[in-house]
Amino acid sequence: MAKDTETMLDNAIHILHEYPLCDRCLGRLFAWLGTGTTNEHRGDSIKLVLFMIGDELLRKGERSPAEDYIRTLAGNGMMSSARRLAKKEKITFQLIEKCHLCTIDQSIFDRIPKIVQHIEEKLEGFEFDTFLVGSIPQPRLVENQDEICAKFNLLNSEPLKSAFNRELGKAVYDKLAKEVEFEKPDIVIIYNMEKEKIRLQVNPIFIFGRYLKLKRGIPQSRWDCGRCRGRGCEECKGTGRRYPDSVSEYIGLPALKITKATRFKVHAAGREDIDALMLGEGRPFVLELSEPKKRDLNLVELERIINQEADGKVEVHDLEFSERSRAQHLKKDASENIKEYVAIIATEEKVSDDLLREAEKLFTEIDIEQRTPTRVAHRRSDLVRVKHIYQVRLKRDKGYKLRGSFKVQGGTYIKELISGDKGRTRPSLAEVLRTPCVCTELNVTAIYTEKPDHNA
Ligand SMILES: [Zn+2]
Ligand SMILES: [Zn+2]
Repeated sequence: MAKDTETMLDNAIHILHEYPLCDRCLGRLFAWLGTGTTNEHRGDSIKLVLFMIGDELLRKGERSPAEDYIRTLAGNGMMSSARRLAKKEKITFQLIEKCHLCTIDQSIFDRIPKIVQHIEEKLEGFEFDTFLVGSIPQPRLVENQDEICAKFNLLNSEPLKSAFNRELGKAVYDKLAKEVEFEKPDIVIIYNMEKEKIRLQVNPIFIFGRYLKLKRGIPQSRWDCGRCRGRGCEECKGTGRRYPDSVSEYIGLPALKITKATRFKVHAAGREDIDALMLGEGRPFVLELSEPKKRDLNLVELERIINQEADGKVEVHDLEFSERSRAQHLKKDASENIKEYVAIIATEEKVSDDLLREAEKLFTEIDIEQRTPTRVAHRRSDLVRVKHIYQVRLKRDKGYKLRGSFKVQGGTYIKELISGDKGRTRPSLAEVLRTPCVCTELNVTAIYTEKPDHNA
């Protein structure tokens, strides 16, 4: 066992006595000592000093300890100068070439040029600016190092994985001339030492934008046929779909094609009903494209292509590159945002102006309670949500119809606010106007992603 008074050099010769180590791995055991150099240089220097000590002992005529040093360095130290001296002095040693900490068949470090070549082949066709190299180390080599560190009480060693990642990263950098990026690399290259396999983790790209829905009857996301679940049946005429198109497909499919991504997902700030239009500035969304081959996009061009292919049904604008966190915020904030709607309301009986004013007054800065509407109960849990209504304005339209504009907290069910949904939403417009009311047309006209200042 190592004693506290032992120096790094004492430790090094004791370790080499027991284990064959290359320069890199010997140096790595003392990696945090001495800055501004490499592990290889550290190991080489330690061995050289030990060799000098051995040589000095030899010259002093202290044959037995000298032989011990030289035999160790020529054998487990794999040191050519020690081997030459050993031969000259007729000191027997074992010819060892396999380092205990980096070699199974071949040193993992010597494999690097070959690995870089494979990485280059794997990366073909991928457009990227930044990368990061990672690895899954050979468990046996990790165990070997842990064992030596415990046995010799080494506190300044560097793990194989981090030393290898650095070396491989440097080699990839030299070959590809791309930047290393630790926080958000475009591509992470992971080398599995045991399986000798390279895995690419191509990070997604995120594009923020706003969409308009200019035609009714389009769901936000692809809606499969409920009967066959997308396989195709008689009911859906083999299409596998309940609706032929969707807002997300109008946005995502052209982008998928251009970037050669494997998948896409549209994260939106809430959703409008299938039969509602999305007007005004549009609904904020973040388009996520998985494993894209092309990342360097012209977003003006993308916007043009999406709008052209959507043919007036859906429109996007304000596209800009974004991040995952924005997609997460969109979803989180959706129920806090303020939204504006315009609705056409059919009333069963004629409503007096006084009653309209009364309703406007009541629905000013008021909290309402909405139990999950019957029409969405199959996909949302049944509970009572409290929603804030900022403002309602009611105007007379043709016949018994009203035109209502609503400024409400995100997540408010407007159709139910109008009809009352058999008492599940309270208070409701129908309740206050004292006549059954039905929303016959609904448009979203504004979504505020940041809360306006109410005091202003
Ligand atoms: Zn080694
Ligand atoms: Zn079907």
